[in-house]
Amino acid sequence: MSLLEVTDLHVRYGAIPALKGIDLRVEEGELVAVVGANGAGKTTTLAAIAGAHRASGGKIILDGQEIQRRRSADIARRGIALVPEDRGIFPSLTVDENLRLGSYLVHDATEVTRMRSQIFERFPILEQRADQGAGTLSGGEQQQLAIARALLTKPRLLMLDEPSLGLSPALVDRVFEVIEDLHREGVTILLVEQNATRALDLADRAYVLTTGVMTASGTTDQIRASVDIESAYLGGV
Ligand code: ATP
Repeated sequence: MSLLEVTDLHVRYGAIPALKGIDLRVEEGELVAVVGANGAGKTTTLAAIAGAHRASGGKIILDGQEIQRRRSADIARRGIALVPEDRGIFPSLTVDENLRLGSYLVHDATEVTRMRSQIFERFPILEQRADQGAGTLSGGEQQQLAIARALLTKPRLLMLDEPSLGLSPALVDRVFEVIEDLHREGVTILLVEQNATRALDLADRAYVLTTGVMTASGTTDQIRASVDIESAYLGGV
């Protein structure tokens, strides 16, 4: 059984169909990328899985259980964490306070402490900035904070929406390095990216989303062989 199985998912914004029956699956331990141009429906796909936007049709199955009608808080408890495109951190709270918010699903205080020191090992910059307002962090640091906060929920599936967006090339490298490390350590990841080349370099499998329809899927080698990644169709690189 797949960890996540999405079948014939439809999402509309009023009269406008954003997803027109997409299929997608993620196996435990995989890094799966969804690539596609601006407006293809990538954010909508993650929002629907996270329960932030209601599907108008189709099924979203986590571990054999339908979740498409569940509320976002319930879906988070079941192990799906979303790092949204705007990172969703609280700028007026400190880095430390933002991280504490991430630990809300873990009730064992010793475990929270252990996880925090693990997070600080992975993201030393967050320890240095612990008492600083999160809004004063650079874009790359905010992205690391957002990922760290999601990891503190101990997700079974980590969903990342355009983590490289708005970052300088050096910070893009850093964020992709973090994603690669997490994958190597066994974290299951669903990555949405406009930066198709970089996403395909990291992923095991990928889907190409074109205006609400999956137009290609397969291993990253298959996708590279069948789709012109450099084409404007994927929004360039
Ligand atoms: P981007 O990379 O630009 O974020 P995307 O692939 O994530 O693009 P979505 O944001 O999922 O695409 O948008 C899919 C389609 O749904 C687009 O045509 C968009 O204009 C439309 N859409 C998204 N949000 C809304 C909304 N709240 N109301 C109406 N239409 C929306």
